[in-house]
Amino acid sequence: MKYDYLVVGAGLYGAVFAHEAKKAGKQVLVIDKRPHVAGNVYTEPVEGIQVHRYGAHIFHTNLKRVWDYVGQFATFNRFTNAPVANYHGELFSLPFNMYTFNKMWGVVTPEEAAAKIEEQRQAAGITDPQNLEEQAISLVGTDIYEKLIKGYTEKQWGRPCTELPPFIIKRLPVRLTFDNNYFNALYQGIPVGGYTRMVENMLEGIEVRLNTDYLADKEALDALADKVVYTGPIDAYFNFALGTLEYRSVRFENETLDIPNYQGNAAVNYTDRESPYTRIIEHKWFEFGKDAEGNDLPKTVISMEYSSEWKPGDEPYYPVNDEKNGALYHRYKELADREEKVIFGGRLGEYKYYDMDAVIASALSLCDREL
Ligand code: UDP
Repeated sequence: MKYDYLVVGAGLYGAVFAHEAKKAGKQVLVIDKRPHVAGNVYTEPVEGIQVHRYGAHIFHTNLKRVWDYVGQFATFNRFTNAPVANYHGELFSLPFNMYTFNKMWGVVTPEEAAAKIEEQRQAAGITDPQNLEEQAISLVGTDIYEKLIKGYTEKQWGRPCTELPPFIIKRLPVRLTFDNNYFNALYQGIPVGGYTRMVENMLEGIEVRLNTDYLADKEALDALADKVVYTGPIDAYFNFALGTLEYRSVRFENETLDIPNYQGNAAVNYTDRESPYTRIIEHKWFEFGKDAEGNDLPKTVISMEYSSEWKPGDEPYYPVNDEKNGALYHRYKELADREEKVIFGGRLGEYKYYDMDAVIASALSLCDREL
């Protein structure tokens, strides 16, 4: 059997491409070295709760094309991400908005909040922010920086805020309204029944081989297809010939508790320096409304997230967006462009910190070009 496409990796990028290729009448084989499909968006049920095994994924997008696209494969619930920050037992609303400012300073009006931020910015004397610390203080003032940003960021990135680029903190909205929605996205939700089912629906009718390591058996697998869509790490494809690209990794400690409600919210960020984890996820609150339905389940599943430096062999999560790794990626990209039979895509294939919607948009634009 000769396939038109061998798709390496059954995550979102691979599944979208495979689905569209089949629809276009192509013969497709999807392989993945893990024992399951769905890549890092993989979810599995524990005690009736969909657990996000490789970290919490909240689908959010401003792209109507992408929202309509995923709607073919899943019904999305009305989950809105509104994390809570816990600083030594004191709770604050995220992202930074009027609820946060009221709790921090007792201010009531947007004008009072803006004045407080301005006063702290002036006292710090920052005009042109050069690093994350200066950027944060100039956006929200020193109190919020000290309690809600500094400890969390240093745990997450393993470096002092003064050595991190300003743009990281600009991902977070700052609002002078009472609005705890973490994302500025028109469309947001979690697929009912879990991400795994959504990806299975994308792959319906397509041959999938799990536990199949492409790089371990490259020649034989290459011989099966005219073209390859490779979504694994780009440096691994070239056997790390130019060196290793770096990632930040995350370690999860999962617990099933005999109580119906541990923290009353899907995400609680521990923003102090002392708690060893960055945040705790309580999975049931992604699925159920904050009402009787979730509380009726007698158990709950939580995951503590520990941010860690990545070493070869660990799961790669966050590409490190610095000059050194960017330059190395570009050298790999030159090699990749010379592989005529192979298309490199997705977060690992392009070494790019993609959100889920951007991965899907990128796969769809490949389909437009290729199919
Ligand atoms: N951040 C913070 N305190 C929080 C949440 C986020 O200081 O409670 C900062 C931190 O520097 C982080 C950045 O905001 O790296 C971006 O956060 P985001 O939630 O976008 O991170 P991701 O979803 O990529 O893990």
